[in-house]
Amino acid sequence: MTRKKTMTARILFKVEKERVLVPVGEPCPFGCKYCYTRGGEVGLAKIKAEEVLLQFQNFAGTTAFETIQFGYDGDPFARPERGIAMLRRLATLGKNVNFSTKASLEVPTLNALADIQRHMEENGTTLSALISVSCWDSASFVEPHTPPPVERMRGVTALKRIGIPVFIAVRPILPHIPDAEYERIATEGILAGCDGFILGPLYADDRGQFVRFVPPEILKTVPSSKNVVSWSAHSPLNLPIICRCYGYG
Ligand code: SF4
Repeated sequence: MTRKKTMTARILFKVEKERVLVPVGEPCPFGCKYCYTRGGEVGLAKIKAEEVLLQFQNFAGTTAFETIQFGYDGDPFARPERGIAMLRRLATLGKNVNFSTKASLEVPTLNALADIQRHMEENGTTLSALISVSCWDSASFVEPHTPPPVERMRGVTALKRIGIPVFIAVRPILPHIPDAEYERIATEGILAGCDGFILGPLYADDRGQFVRFVPPEILKTVPSSKNVVSWSAHSPLNLPIICRCYGYG
């Protein structure tokens, strides 16, 4: 694995497995109970889109990598105008681009994504999407301010219709959620036409942040490991960030 690091005044970009994470740069309004950005260690407090893009363009001009992963500190389409504007710029850098979202994708956003996808295809690069779904019936409790899973599945179908490859990110897998909800996600994802599924663990810090909604008697039965996380938008002054990872990893 090749690892390279470049630091700027505020944002850390890092190549890992030929991929670089690019932050949205503003707090996410969805407030999922497991969200690791709420602790402040991962996401930036708020930074102008232009600043993120300028810093990233400088990085991309001097570093080899293949894929841009847009949006790990927030949801790029919680505010679609910002997400689309940033994506348009990222799409011009000659790299594959992947974004992940739970937002409702309205027609203007889909039209803009289709346009970006067309340009990227002409330039020999690929735009792909991850739609995150962590539970089904429990979403109204676990993700009360986030568009419901059924709405996200509509997004999967719509993205496929405009020719964008779509994977469902089942992350985090939640240990107290009945298997039936995960079976439902699989069924609905296939019906929506997704290209596949990726799975991800549940993160917590040493204070148990982000896992307090999981019954402790269930949490303590789940295998976990302690790792320094690789994703952080902060300068290395604030690293390392150590997370407990439930499930695997
Ligand atoms: S959508 Fe993602 S970034 Fe936003 S609150 Fe939920 S987990 Fe956090």
